[in-house]
Formats: sequence, C-alpha cells, structure tokens
Amino acid sequence: MPPSDYIELRARCEAQLELTVCNGCSACYLRCADGVQATRAEWRALQDYIAAAPPAKRAEIDAVMAQDKTVDLGDEVTVSLCRYFDMDTRTCAVYPARPLVCRLLGHVEWLPCPIENVPRPLPTPLALELMRAYAREERKTFAEWEETCS
Ligand code: SF4
Ligand code: SF4
Repeated sequence: MPPSDYIELRARCEAQLELTVCNGCSACYLRCADGVQATRAEWRALQDYIAAAPPAKRAEIDAVMAQDKTVDLGDEVTVSLCRYFDMDTRTCAVYPARPLVCRLLGHVEWLPCPIENVPRPLPTPLALELMRAYAREERKTFAEWEETCS
C-alpha cells in the first residue's frame, strides 16, 4: 500500500474514533508505558508540535520530561511511563501530537477501554487493516528516533 493510501486509511479511521469520551479521563494512564513506537512522520510531527509551542508550553514539556516516570505497583513491581506523561496531572503533555497507537488505546477490540466508557470501538476489520498498513511503516521508540535524528 503506498504511503498516501496509509494516510488516507488513517484519516478515515481517526474520523470514526470517538475521542471526546477520553477528554479529561486518565483511567488508562498505566498504558502510557515507556517504549511507545512512532513512525518517522509521527516523530517529526511531535517535534514540530513542541518546536511551535509557546514558551510556557515548551517549559511545561521540559519539566514533564524531567520527571521520574517510575510507578510503584506494589510487591516490588515497578513500571516506567512515557517521557511525555505528566506524573502530576496524569495527562499527556503532547496530546494533540501523540502517535496513532496512543489514539487507538481503548478504541480497538484488542485494547479495550478499561472502564468501558468508549461506546463504539473502531470496527475490527478496519482497525486490522490500519494496523497492517501501520506495521509496514518504519517505527521506532522516541529514544531511538532521538538517537537516529541527532
Ligand atoms: S480509553 Fe477509556 S480509560 Fe482511557 S482515556 Fe478513554 S475513556 Fe478513559
Ligand atoms: S505520547 Fe502521550 S498518549 Fe502516548 S504514551 Fe506518551 S504520554 Fe501516553
């Protein structure tokens, strides 16, 4: 599938996501784990978003990135969350520019909303078609893109 078809497919899927139900909700915040992958275009879009942000927002993102991302789950089990996850507000500091996988959390059959607040997940055949196209894209973690692009 040519990239333009992937972009068209992604746009079609995103138009069907009922993302407003997620506004102000952080009940699935533990899924914002370290190691989320992004395509090159998503990484660039994220960096462009940060570069274009007003100084106060950029300072906020810098402060978020400096936070300790460790969450203690008890029984000596800890997880490390995403660099852009704000541990104080439990929100994503780059929400408008987050990658596709972050948008799909709670909105696809295999990653359901843990509080059952999403009325209609993306139809599974369409979601799988999107994931197959997405899987063909080059993807890296944020840390890997940073290393690649530095
Ligand atoms: S997927 Fe569910 S738990 Fe996660 S933000 Fe949306 S409504 Fe909240
Ligand atoms: S980019 Fe935002 S939504 Fe995605 S994992 Fe990181 S904090 Fe969560």
